[in-house]
Amino acid sequence: MPNEDSRPPEPSFRESVDIMVNRAMALMDLSPGLEEKIRVCNAIYTVRFGVRLRGSIHTFTGYRAVHSEHMEPVKGGIRYATSVHQDEVEALAALMTYKCALVETPFGGSKGGLRIDPRAWEEHELEQITRRFAYELAKRDLINPAQNVPAPDMGTSEREMAWIADQYRRMNTTDINAAACVTGKPINSGGIQGRTEATGRGVQYALREFFRHPEDVAAAGLSGTLDGKRVIVQGLGNVGYHAASFLQNEDGCRITGIIERDGALSNEDGLDVESVKAWIDRHGGIAGYPDASVIKDGAVLLEHECDILIPAALEGTIHRENAERISAPLIIEAANGPITAGADEILRSKGTVIIPDMYANAGGVTVSYFEWVKNLSHIRFGRMQRRAEEARHLLIVNELERLSADKGLGWTLSPGFKSQYLRGAGELELVRSGLDDTMRSAYQSMREVWHARDEVKDLRTAAYIVSIGRVAASYQAKGL
Ligand code: GLU
Repeated sequence: MPNEDSRPPEPSFRESVDIMVNRAMALMDLSPGLEEKIRVCNAIYTVRFGVRLRGSIHTFTGYRAVHSEHMEPVKGGIRYATSVHQDEVEALAALMTYKCALVETPFGGSKGGLRIDPRAWEEHELEQITRRFAYELAKRDLINPAQNVPAPDMGTSEREMAWIADQYRRMNTTDINAAACVTGKPINSGGIQGRTEATGRGVQYALREFFRHPEDVAAAGLSGTLDGKRVIVQGLGNVGYHAASFLQNEDGCRITGIIERDGALSNEDGLDVESVKAWIDRHGGIAGYPDASVIKDGAVLLEHECDILIPAALEGTIHRENAERISAPLIIEAANGPITAGADEILRSKGTVIIPDMYANAGGVTVSYFEWVKNLSHIRFGRMQRRAEEARHLLIVNELERLSADKGLGWTLSPGFKSQYLRGAGELELVRSGLDDTMRSAYQSMREVWHARDEVKDLRTAAYIVSIGRVAASYQAKGL
């Protein structure tokens, strides 16, 4: 046993990302100068602003980091949490760069955060704070449809995005593309169907794609399909809830554990995600939930036996101290950075397969891209595709009917089928199928590197090689 006290502290989140990046870079052929250019965070802006609330002035600290501008606009969410700090925001911005490159959304990486406990404030107060923060960022072009496009993240939702969009619009009344200054907006403020569920949906599509490759499934010591797999989820926020709900209701997974802020629930026969969520919404936590055993120290459940572990909460929840005890053979990182670099090393040597964050949670930014394109095109998303699809369907229906009449076959298409088929896909179907397509091809580009090169031992290194390669190519093509 190493003497715990003599070990250096675990690297910070940003250092952890850099360690992983360096591991991939060591297997690539980039000049040291370009490596450094890609790795560093280009800029970070810190703002401290005061808002008069409840009779006195409260000062808030916020950040917006821009990691890489090899493509613009740069993209990434805004997080509201008391734990927000510069190192975290920079790490998250870096992950956005690699994430966008991996799923081929044409953005650089950015991230923002406000140090605040959103639960401590009333809605109208949060609106005031958000508008002021948005004003500070927008006047420096850190919110701008062509330069920097935020989105929701932990502690924020479509509600905050609507306030940000409106604030930007007030400051830029002649900008016809104002709606594209932020994504993750409500539908009635220029949002797109399927954005709220997108990150969780992407986790589901990622797992489905993983299970389409028996060789990869076997590498995790598993077999078969998703059906019946035991899943433990950490965090039943937007991402964790949607992922767990889709996996349970559409893929036959058994959710055997849910870890929340105030403890964890465990039931080998499966927990009902919808009723756990409803309980948390009603009672503010899991305490008292029937039909499950309650574990006070929730993090312990991370170590329980299951087939798939889904950390969907904060960064660094799987660290050097608990990594050895994690028994799940497959981990999919729905959160950003849930596994520290130290833990990653321990898990890799144990043979745990990790589907990395930059791929696993890319569903959000992928659908954000669809929303941004929809806003810029000023046309209902998919309207053109839908017209083309309808025209093609009409040709097929007419041809079938003509053939049937010609040959006296007497085939008829039921009116219900005909009208449904002719109508083609709506916005939600287009978004979901575009996301599915993205998740499939990104997985394939990653696995190709994983399997083709002996020195690439894990999916994370493969993912970094693909994305760093794309960022490097973009710098080389356009200059720095
Ligand atoms: N906050 C999300 C993420 O970490 C979404 C970012 C976006 O849509 O721009 O990927």
